Amino acid sequence: MTSDGSGIGKYDGMAIFVPLTAIGDTARVKILKVKKTYAFGKLTEIIEPSPDRAENRCPSFSQCGGCVYRHISYAAECRIKTDKVYEAIKRIGGADMPPQPIICSENTEHYRNKAQFPVREDENGIPQTGFFAGRSHRLIPASSCAIQHPVINEVVENVMNFLRAYGISAYREESHKGLVRHIYVRRGYHTGQIMVCLVINGNELPHAAEFITRLRTIEGMTSICLNLNTKKTNVILGSSTKLLWGSPAIEDKIGGIRYQISPQSFYQVNPVQTEKLYQTALDFADLQGDERVWDLYCGIGTISLFLAKAVPNGQVTGVEIVPEAIENAKKNAALNGISNTSFYCGAAEDVVTDMVAKRRTPSKEDQNGALADVVVVDPPRKGCDAKLLDTIVTMNPEKIVYVSCDPATLARDVKVLGEKGYEVKKVRACDMFPQGGHVETVVCLQKEKGERA
Ligand code: SAH
Repeated sequence: MTSDGSGIGKYDGMAIFVPLTAIGDTARVKILKVKKTYAFGKLTEIIEPSPDRAENRCPSFSQCGGCVYRHISYAAECRIKTDKVYEAIKRIGGADMPPQPIICSENTEHYRNKAQFPVREDENGIPQTGFFAGRSHRLIPASSCAIQHPVINEVVENVMNFLRAYGISAYREESHKGLVRHIYVRRGYHTGQIMVCLVINGNELPHAAEFITRLRTIEGMTSICLNLNTKKTNVILGSSTKLLWGSPAIEDKIGGIRYQISPQSFYQVNPVQTEKLYQTALDFADLQGDERVWDLYCGIGTISLFLAKAVPNGQVTGVEIVPEAIENAKKNAALNGISNTSFYCGAAEDVVTDMVAKRRTPSKEDQNGALADVVVVDPPRKGCDAKLLDTIVTMNPEKIVYVSCDPATLARDVKVLGEKGYEVKKVRACDMFPQGGHVETVVCLQKEKGERA
């Protein structure tokens, strides 16, 4: 199966991708499009169902571009995700590891703490929300989502009632006119704090006072803001955010550490699994208490602060590109009374490379010329920048803990690091996105003993 939930059949050696089929199905399929080495088909009849099949309980599934594995059981989904990780690490990364089962999610519905619902006009000019159909910007109307926390669905419904009651226009992509583009909602899992951010194609929201009055009565409401995005782009958030009511950030906790989260900052979406993911990274780092640790692509310092607590006599340096996230990281360290961290803003490949070249790092060089004991990286899907990988190797850490949200780029980077003497020692996948195609993985790479000197 592919990571977009299509089953793959073979005909005369040619791969045929068929949405909504499962491994083990015998099915009748209509071929829709034929390319040189592969084709796309449509399921017309299940002759013999796969044992992996399960009943789907979401009415939007076959149209919505979000979930991809709702037609199979969660056990099958976990098996597929595990295979995907180990296969990529073996095939692309060159490391053949005995597979460990993925860390399954405790909740497979209503687990998300963040939603970005698009708002578009229907044929009668009425604002609608819902989901974009797969690989398109065609809105499938829906007022709730089965993987979101119920309060998030309630907030979205409230916002839609307000837009309709006050005749506020929805964004129209073709003409780049209309006001409201997205409803962005976040909820702190341990605090219940809620942030609503209306993304608008303009500078002002008409009837803002009424908007605030309606939303602030929702239990947990902490922050109501506008994000201004007047560009012709698919990127959801614009660069400026205006606070309408409450605090500019919400707070949440992971593993007893408090975090402030601004709307522009990245924050993992499955809070129960996040703690397990970070714990796995911490276990792989196996810190003794005095190490020099780096956390690259650190966001609001989530992993950095986990690490900092484990090295009371050591030092953690975090680097992140989004200024608001670095502001959060610095505040979060202070909020938790953690003083052995320093945070830098900029592209890790530039900032770290520059610091290392000038030997101006918070961590001191040891007798081996090493500037780090452990380097943790947690890059976006495209993986680590090649220049950054070179720099990390120059820093000569004993261990690299790689947290990844894309097995293919992870495996590519594992190969590069392998050629520089770092061997894969541990691999553990963690399911952050039940029903979704993506999978998170933590890998521990280590220099062979004696190779560091
Ligand atoms: N470790 C954090 C964030 C991981 S997401 C957490 O678990 O919450 C990846 C982060 O990398 C995002 O915050 C993104 O803003 C940041 N980022 C993207 N490109 C970057 C780059 N070139 N240099 C540094 N940070 C980058």
